[in-house]
Amino acid sequence: MNIDIILSRLNKVQKTSKLNEYKALCPAHEDKNPSLSIGELSDGRILINCFAGCESKQVLDSIGLSFEDLFPEKLGDFKSEKKPFSSNHGLKLIGYESSIILACAGFLREGKELSEANFSRIVEAVSRIQNVLRVCGL
Ligand SMILES: [Zn+2]
Repeated sequence: MNIDIILSRLNKVQKTSKLNEYKALCPAHEDKNPSLSIGELSDGRILINCFAGCESKQVLDSIGLSFEDLFPEKLGDFKSEKKPFSSNHGLKLIGYESSIILACAGFLREGKELSEANFSRIVEAVSRIQNVLRVCGL
């Protein structure tokens, strides 16, 4: 769910000084000073917290939402599709494969010939990177 949809159901929404963080009146208790914080993480998950102590479930119930609504649809799809590796592993692989491409670019820059084997390795590196992106749904 987009954070804007959640914010649109809250009152007195204010942007805080932090990136992607907002404050609003908590819908689950008589709130006069905004005590609900709503933040969006870089992976699209949304965190809510009432500083007066309301449970997140109560807050969500009050605006007709559930915990699933705090997760981006993309993450929801991940549950059903089992990934053959973790995202961290995928990022490491991309880092490794890109260093191979860089090494080959270094050869070319020095005026060396790119061997058939090295060219095939670049093709393989690119296909591995694309494979990681595909599996991660990107
Ligand atoms: Zn509250």
